[in-house]
Amino acid sequence: MARSSINIGHREAGLSPATWLSLVVPIDFQKRDDAQAAAEMAGGTKPSSESEVVNHEIGHALHFVEDPIQVANADAEDLEPTANGFAKKVANEKNSMSEPDAKKRVHEILGLEPPK
Ligand SMILES: [Zn+2]
Repeated sequence: MARSSINIGHREAGLSPATWLSLVVPIDFQKRDDAQAAAEMAGGTKPSSESEVVNHEIGHALHFVEDPIQVANADAEDLEPTANGFAKKVANEKNSMSEPDAKKRVHEILGLEPPK
């Protein structure tokens, strides 16, 4: 089964060492692939791409990291707009940048001093 998962560690979550955690996000690519195959055979609406699926699930993970109590108490369907919003935001970002800009962005994400 084509199942994959993403570990989001303490650093990505911006947490102090005292609250390090590992969050596992399982992603079932087989389900997406089956929906793609069905759409190609019979026509109809194609499912989200793999990158859209991954970005959506990362959106759920980040929402959990930011506000675990709200996420734990919410109905699953009420969490979809936040994950969809994150995936849309990622899709709207440029997917290429210069090496210096990439280094700068990675340092920002990891909360490090700007690169020299
Ligand atoms: Zn979702």
